[in-house]
Amino acid sequence: MDGTHTMSSTNARPYRQWTQAGLDDRSIDRTDAADILNGNAIDTLSLVHAAGEVRRGFFGNTVTIHVLDNVRNGACPEDCGYCGQSRDSDAPIQPYKLKSVDAIVDDARRAQESGAYRFCMAISGRGPGEREIEHMCDAISRIKAMGLRTCLSAGLLDDDKARQLRDAGLDRLNHNLNTSRRHYPEICTTHTYDDRVDTLRAAKDAGLGVCSGLIVGMNETYEDLLDVAYALRAVRAESIPVNFLLPIEGNRVNNPTSGGRPLDPQFVLRVLCMMRLVNPTAEIRIAAGREAHLRSLQPLGLYPANSLFMEGYLLTEGQAAGDTLRMILDAGFTPAFDNPAEAPESLRRLIEGHANGSLPHATPTDTAGAPEMRATLKVSVAKKA
Ligand code: SF4
Repeated sequence: MDGTHTMSSTNARPYRQWTQAGLDDRSIDRTDAADILNGNAIDTLSLVHAAGEVRRGFFGNTVTIHVLDNVRNGACPEDCGYCGQSRDSDAPIQPYKLKSVDAIVDDARRAQESGAYRFCMAISGRGPGEREIEHMCDAISRIKAMGLRTCLSAGLLDDDKARQLRDAGLDRLNHNLNTSRRHYPEICTTHTYDDRVDTLRAAKDAGLGVCSGLIVGMNETYEDLLDVAYALRAVRAESIPVNFLLPIEGNRVNNPTSGGRPLDPQFVLRVLCMMRLVNPTAEIRIAAGREAHLRSLQPLGLYPANSLFMEGYLLTEGQAAGDTLRMILDAGFTPAFDNPAEAPESLRRLIEGHANGSLPHATPTDTAGAPEMRATLKVSVAKKA
């Protein structure tokens, strides 16, 4: 035996110190964070345990479930290379105008009945005008009255608009940094990294919670990932969606690689652990790409992360609500609710059935009609229209 696969004590990683730093709300050192991304003498289960202890310290075993509603699709004048709604994309999406307030509220009600904790609305475009702000303020105040938390992604915002949204009851503004300042011009030229930072500042000054994350897999270096991880720490983002690039046909940025390598489930898991250990108290959300890039390791992702989307993303399909909830329960976690007694009936039945060990009825497979494995992701058009 040559010992190639045996981790020597000299390069064993200080997993316990990482956990302790996190529990003290300190980020791990950048060199350690780089080693995690590189997989340099990293034992995956020890790392997952270290990050999981930090997550448990701040969030227990709860998972916050978000449902995303694309309230206006396409026709965006910006050139974000990863986005199917961009002016430069040939992705086969079906654009539609801003949904009516009633339609948005109906979507929120359905999300609430499926077990959502927070309803996230997204409007395509560079930034909203006054009419759109008023429209969204109306929707937000009605959704808040239902007892659902709200988040809005609306592009660039100034101080006045951020304050109007806060006054309507908006809890959080989502505006992702997406990547590092250095790499930003590679993915977008119609606005800058600093424009994005300004919007986050306006949200903070207005007293809104800040949800800001990244997209992994846009051909960035690991140093870029570290830059954005620590930048999110510097702005104290309270929620960090970690997206993994989905290769949508027709988009300019379309080949998921990071550090010159394709994404794989072990790397994706290490990114989530790194994000937890750099941002110990933030809500770390496994966002787009969970199913495609974590694959069979999805339940392990719930150890570093405490939040996820269900029922799909802006333009692509995702795991359905029932399957997501079962995965959460099977892994020993529980959906977050301010008041569990107010959980929707369907979710309570699922949780009780899970506790009783009852299984859904198996359905014989119709092999003739069985879906084939999809090599590329299908853009979900009909669902959003
Ligand atoms: S990410 Fe937003 S701003 Fe950029 S192209 Fe897509 S919709 Fe437009």
